[in-house]
Amino acid sequence: METQNFSRYFLNTDQESVALYQQVMQQAQTALVNQFSTNQKPYSGLNYQELNVLLSRTFQEVVPENPVHVNQLMSDIGEVLIKNSVVVTNPLCIAHLHCPPLSVALAAEALISGTNQSMDSWDQSSAATMLEQKVVNWLTQAFLQNDKADGVFTSGGTQSNFMGLLLARDRYLFKRFNWNTQKQGLPPQAHKLRIFCSKDAHFTVKQSAFLLGLGEQAVIPIETDHNHRMCLRDLDQRLRDAEEQDLSPFVLVATAGTTDFGSIDPLSELASRAKKHHMWFHVDAAYGGALILSDRYRDKLKGIELGDSITVDFHKLFYQPISCGAFLLKDQSNFNFIKQNADYLNPEDDEETGIPNLVTKSIQTTRRFDSLKLFMSLQSLGRKKFAEMIDYTMDLAKETAMLIEEDKQLELVNVPEMNAVVFRYVHQINGKKVDKINTFIRTRLIEKGDAILARTRVQGRAFLKLTLLNPQTTMKDIRLIINQVKKIGGECEYNGNH
Ligand SMILES: *Cc1c(COP(=O)(O)O)cnc(C)c1O
Repeated sequence: METQNFSRYFLNTDQESVALYQQVMQQAQTALVNQFSTNQKPYSGLNYQELNVLLSRTFQEVVPENPVHVNQLMSDIGEVLIKNSVVVTNPLCIAHLHCPPLSVALAAEALISGTNQSMDSWDQSSAATMLEQKVVNWLTQAFLQNDKADGVFTSGGTQSNFMGLLLARDRYLFKRFNWNTQKQGLPPQAHKLRIFCSKDAHFTVKQSAFLLGLGEQAVIPIETDHNHRMCLRDLDQRLRDAEEQDLSPFVLVATAGTTDFGSIDPLSELASRAKKHHMWFHVDAAYGGALILSDRYRDKLKGIELGDSITVDFHKLFYQPISCGAFLLKDQSNFNFIKQNADYLNPEDDEETGIPNLVTKSIQTTRRFDSLKLFMSLQSLGRKKFAEMIDYTMDLAKETAMLIEEDKQLELVNVPEMNAVVFRYVHQINGKKVDKINTFIRTRLIEKGDAILARTRVQGRAFLKLTLLNPQTTMKDIRLIINQVKKIGGECEYNGNH
């Protein structure tokens, strides 16, 4: 067989390969700076049909027979894709729990993908495994203060919540019925299992319920108070009802930072309910977990240390590029409920010699070295700077809420517990028209590329939402957006066609 030279396509000892790597990385940086981060507007304004046309025109074939020159490719990607991306770094892009990523984390991303370590087994990720464990140890200390605690990085809140509910279910069935779910599947009593969470909990609680074979019927949504926190009276009543109906409540899910309102359930009170009823206590702190870094707001998480498991996301208020999250567990022995030994990855003899194969704690196999970017960010900024950024966005939300509250043309829904503000344009309109106008306002702002807000529904009615994660957003930006909202709202009101 004739040897061929493919080596220029990979980064290696070859000079030509190093030059090509540096060239494409430089070109990618240039595209990001020129077509993205320095954009004045948060979006170009193209709608999905226009994007479709543009894409078909630029990229006629997905797999051309012969290569496209890399300069051409980079320029097309920049002009077409990057230029028409949602500019998450722009101060007027404040729709979702979708943060601007820190530059140092972007550098870390280049190292994560460049080294391409896989976190499933130690022999694929030597030093990376040790660093992930080090970061996890810090997280478990910060959140759980328990020597038996452990954790693992995940793709985000969806996966972390799923893991929490999975372990909760399997431990419950084991303790209560000596049932091994891993081997035996669900027992006949499974239809009686119940998950308690507030009605403002993340939809992935329901999703996990059906993925776990319990069906959405297993989820009992508890009423929330005027601050969108779980209502303890309703919880107590529902727990009594469940007992009377001979149901099996096995997990209580608290939310620390609900997606719409950023509200935080009363964690300590919920922990004591969970304990009394022998339920697993899972805290979904995907959004609110970042408050752990803040001297001013850490207290809002009081009681989180009582969690049996905790979800934290770093691609939200920790300013990390997607994806980056963690699942934390108070008692590491509960990882045994998902343990599998594969001879080729994590054989039992590795366990005997102490070689850590992180796949044992994960429901992913091949897995990215995402802890590196969090680690480099924490190192590079230091805790205080993180805390200042988080505190700033919390204050920004408070001031924004005050501004909205004082304005007769607007209606504020929530005094923000964190940094999400929900409101709507009202002025002199009423009835169904209010919903239409608010929906139109949001669409119009995106079409003009002027601002990206989110929408949500509160008691069936349409509202606008500002998720103020970006510490570069100023009150000046907020006033600009609010004036635009009122201007567009006023125009529709008088045109009368909405
Ligand atoms: C974002 C979020 C999730 C889902 O997390 P992903 O990282 O998007 O998978 C779950 N719970 C809460 C409260 C969230 O805000």
